[in-house]
Amino acid sequence: MAARIKDNPFLKALKYIHIFPENDPKQVLRIRRFFMALTVYVLCVILAYCSYLVGVMEWQAIAGFLIIIPIINIILYIVFRTGLNLRMSDPSLTSIQICAGILVTMYGMYYANESRGVLLLVYIIILLFGIFRLNYRHFLYVSLFTLLTYGGDIALLHYFRPDGVNFHIEYLQWFVLALVLVAFSVIGGYISALRQHLSISRSNLQKSILTIRELSIRDELTGVYNRRHFMDLLEYEKNRASRGGALFAIVMLDIDNFKDVNDKYGHISGDEVLRKVTKAIGNALRSTDFCGRYGGDEFLLVLTQTDINAAMICAERVRSSIERSVFPDLGTDVRITVSLGLTEYHVREDIGKMIARADEALYLAKKSGRNRLELIV
Ligand code: GH3
Ligand code: MG
Repeated sequence: MAARIKDNPFLKALKYIHIFPENDPKQVLRIRRFFMALTVYVLCVILAYCSYLVGVMEWQAIAGFLIIIPIINIILYIVFRTGLNLRMSDPSLTSIQICAGILVTMYGMYYANESRGVLLLVYIIILLFGIFRLNYRHFLYVSLFTLLTYGGDIALLHYFRPDGVNFHIEYLQWFVLALVLVAFSVIGGYISALRQHLSISRSNLQKSILTIRELSIRDELTGVYNRRHFMDLLEYEKNRASRGGALFAIVMLDIDNFKDVNDKYGHISGDEVLRKVTKAIGNALRSTDFCGRYGGDEFLLVLTQTDINAAMICAERVRSSIERSVFPDLGTDVRITVSLGLTEYHVREDIGKMIARADEALYLAKKSGRNRLELIV
């Protein structure tokens, strides 16, 4: 049985037909709504057929539906699937779809005879789709269009087949429809406005969540990762390396004689130096590496998928880039230097142990005269 399904060419072909676009959730939603509308069309055709069977609908309505409805829906689907709708002011094509539905209903109404009054409810189903997008004004336009089309039906009936139609009932129905549509426009517009308000609130909330997340993982002063997030990333990197991934190296970096900078130029200038140093670090690292503030004037760099030789070159690049940086706040001839301690990860060792080794290498660099890199493997 499974083999038969597998060999079925129709099912095989279906696999290659993508009814929905793959990477555009908004378009998927629009096409879903289109299919909802299509379902309503199918139900209305069934309803019309039943009305025909009981003798209250003429065959021309069914025949017309079977031609007009597929044409409209094939065109709409092509427009959605090719993305042509994205060039329009309302990519959901709500008004166009509603007006198409109303015109199809107008056609059916002409041949509906006694069932015309009942079929007025179809207008309500069509207008319900407007709740997804239309505002008060658009609802009012669509309602006016509905009244015009129904009025058009009455006029055509007057002209072509005045016999057998009770026009008093038709006028009354038109008037009741007008009242219902006014109420519908007001309530529908209100619901639509609520929906839009909700969608704006949701998008603001998502932006706030992103901002809060950024704030929770970044150091406020320098913008590099804070210690907590940095340690999480390091733990992740360690697990990756322990599972057989490439090894990585870490560098503990500390600004030389930073206390003197604060004492001589003030804390605010000291802050500016911290910012500039982190900027220089960022520029010297590859996009796959990351940097975090370990505390005070101390930073930890993680050099991913790097052997010790490449790591030394990278750490040296960071050191010389900071040494060459200019700090206008302090004066053009003042230079800031850093000391660095480098080590590499040993498979399955504890993160704390590796950091202690980098710290030890940093201590060595400080002891050996600062502005230099020391390595402990
Ligand atoms: P060494 O070369 O041995 O590192 O000497 P140092 O003077 O840099 O000594 P240390 O690293 O121990 O000093 C860190 C100083 O960094 C102490 C503190 O006043 C200063 N500091 C820590 N956090 C901040 C900050 O956010 N802003 C400023 N401006 N200074 C800070
Ligand atoms: Mg220092």
